[in-house]
Amino acid sequence: APLVSLDGVGKRFANTVTALEGLDMQVRQGEFLSLLGPSGCGKSTALRLIAGLSEPSAGTIEWNGEQAARRSIGFVFQEPTLMPWASVFGNVHLPLKLAGVGRRQAEPAIAEALEMVGLSSFRDAYPRELSGGMKMRVSIARALVTRPRLLLMDEPFAALDEITRFKLNNDLLEVWRRLGCTIVFVTHSVFESVFLSTRILVFRARPGRVSAELSIDPDQPRD
Ligand code: ADP
Ligand code: ADP
Repeated sequence: APLVSLDGVGKRFANTVTALEGLDMQVRQGEFLSLLGPSGCGKSTALRLIAGLSEPSAGTIEWNGEQAARRSIGFVFQEPTLMPWASVFGNVHLPLKLAGVGRRQAEPAIAEALEMVGLSSFRDAYPRELSGGMKMRVSIARALVTRPRLLLMDEPFAALDEITRFKLNNDLLEVWRRLGCTIVFVTHSVFESVFLSTRILVFRARPGRVSAELSIDPDQPRD
């Protein structure tokens, strides 16, 4: 059974903009799924609906039986949105802190998340001391620290230069393989979607919905 199933999903804003209409899509367990398409075709809206950050105007979004899975989500936005007054360690601690896990108890999980994104030696640094790519790594570590079953990423690398982006693409693949989590990745880059994904859903606009699907052999050598 799919992890998440969207059936006939529509989303209208202020009863004027139809961002999505008749969207049918599934997120399968363990896949690296890309939502690909030009700006304005409803990719971010679809991701926010899956995250439960907004409600559909039509249709249904079903989680594979368990409501608990809904809470096991990590979200990475295009902007890293770090707390400037907190260290790298403090920023990655945040989701656990909100769940009532203190610094000492959270330490192993934070150390592992930082190790996965290659930032072990930057735990005491502050956001202002980091490059854009490193801030994004902190943002990814923060999303991973709770070990979510589903990682949702909204054009996370769009603001970064190409070399940084390529390195992050490689490291993200490594993380996905290591954790065996499910990723839904929004992008308007054909290269990025082909390089990263096991499956691509191509979106079209007005109204936003899936217009094509491409599956990629997950075992093909990509590096
Ligand atoms: P994409 O992620 O593919 O660029 P979006 O999902 O951001 O597309 O947007 C789809 C359409 O919905 C666009 O026309 C956008 O302007 C509109 N839209 C998105 N969010 C809102 C909102 N909160 N209020 C009004 N219109 C919105
Ligand atoms: P991104 O392209 O990185 O997804 P956007 O600039 O499209 O970010 O959207 C940022 C926020 O603004 C989102 O909460 C989205 O719902 C909202 N938004 C996007 N387009 C519109 C719009 N046309 N009118 C009102 N809100 C919008």
